[in-house]
Amino acid sequence: MSGSPHSQRPSPSSQPSPSLRPPSVRVIDHPLVQHKLTLIRKKETSTSSFRTLLAEVSMLLAYEVTRDLPVVYEQIETPLASMRAPLLEGKKIVLVSILRAGNGLLDGMLRILPSARVGHIGLYRDPVTLGAIEYYFKIPREFGDRDVIAVDPMLATGNSAVAAVDRIKQAAPKSIKFVCLLAAPEGLAHFYESHPDVPVYTAAIDERLDEHGYILPGLGDAGDRLFGTK
Ligand code: URA
Repeated sequence: MSGSPHSQRPSPSSQPSPSLRPPSVRVIDHPLVQHKLTLIRKKETSTSSFRTLLAEVSMLLAYEVTRDLPVVYEQIETPLASMRAPLLEGKKIVLVSILRAGNGLLDGMLRILPSARVGHIGLYRDPVTLGAIEYYFKIPREFGDRDVIAVDPMLATGNSAVAAVDRIKQAAPKSIKFVCLLAAPEGLAHFYESHPDVPVYTAAIDERLDEHGYILPGLGDAGDRLFGTK
């Protein structure tokens, strides 16, 4: 039975067809994620709701991005019987927040991954060139055996994402994934050119960038909406 026009699964016609998408990109089209993303996008959403929704959606993103974590089996006793039950193999995840908007994804992710370590990379966009300029970098020591999840809600030009992953790679972690809420096709292409080995998880791929490097239709300036600075 075909669904009514009002009950379709989200599949925006503006999304590039999967064949044009870099193979490293995974779009998380779960209805809960899409519902929350729509509320986040709305211009009338208050700062407090924006923050809460971003934390909620980031828990769902964390669930998807950790889907392939290895498990080990341990013999346990339930109140009724003995069984071999799975547990996460290690707790070696480092969340790296790309400041400042990345912090909006941190809280929710840390609720799902409470023992993760946290790093921060401060980058700002040169307003003329849109290039990424670093002003802060702090990550946990002993990085070599860690799996990194870098977070920034907006993958727009891709300049910050590329620069952040360049820096993270210098510390030689075991693996890197990149999580955002929204991505522009131009930014994804740029990111893939530089880091084809780094999977990108996003809730949506929007139409394009505007002349200021903002994602259209997007959600505006994620940092300003998160911190109420405009
Ligand atoms: N950063 C934002 O906060 N919003 C955009 O649309 C692009 C980059």
